[in-house]
Amino acid sequence: MIKIGLTGGIGSGKSTVSNILREQGIAVIDADIIARDVMEKYIVITDKIKSTFGEKFIDGSGKLKRREFGDYIFSNKDKKNIYEDIIMPFIKKEVFEKIDELHKRGEEICIIDGATLIESGFYKYTDIIILVWANKKTQIFRVKERDQLTENQIIDRINSQMSLEEKKKYADFVLDNSNTLDETKKQLEEILNKITMNL
Ligand code: ADP
Repeated sequence: MIKIGLTGGIGSGKSTVSNILREQGIAVIDADIIARDVMEKYIVITDKIKSTFGEKFIDGSGKLKRREFGDYIFSNKDKKNIYEDIIMPFIKKEVFEKIDELHKRGEEICIIDGATLIESGFYKYTDIIILVWANKKTQIFRVKERDQLTENQIIDRINSQMSLEEKKKYADFVLDNSNTLDETKKQLEEILNKITMNL
């Protein structure tokens, strides 16, 4: 089974491309959903966040205040790294279990969709990396529409991630999603054809 890593930057269109792949019946493992689910599954993560970052990020029912915590860690690279060190082992375990399941089911390709695939080092476990790229202006414009964040909050989030230019160095394929969805679909088809040609 070919493991294809799909990554991008905030608002570059990774989720959009991931949905197109799903519609085509391709198995997609969403590492971002897994990252959210592990919080529920392993209470120890919230405990660790509480002891590391303070009680102010935990609400009355013991759950993480996602928005406040997001603002806090996304504005500081060191804090974000500490958070990722806490959560990453749990995410890895779950992703590997899902890869195993798909392999046993006889899938020929699977997509591992993750915003921090490269930063986390997880890309090393994939065979091919597709980077969904968009120019910065487009990223900011689309996130503004989607998330009701201010321009400064968006820029903070973009700057807290590895730059798309840096990510390009790791990518086998760069899909330019700065234009229409039709153009994106066309590029995606070409990329998939190249990948599956050797199956
Ligand atoms: P990411 O997952 O990389 O953060 P999304 O896939 O959610 O990005 O895309 C960000 C926003 O831009 C979404 O609201 C999405 O619907 C929109 N979008 C994505 N690609 C395009 C495109 N090619 N044309 C127009 N809007 C797009």
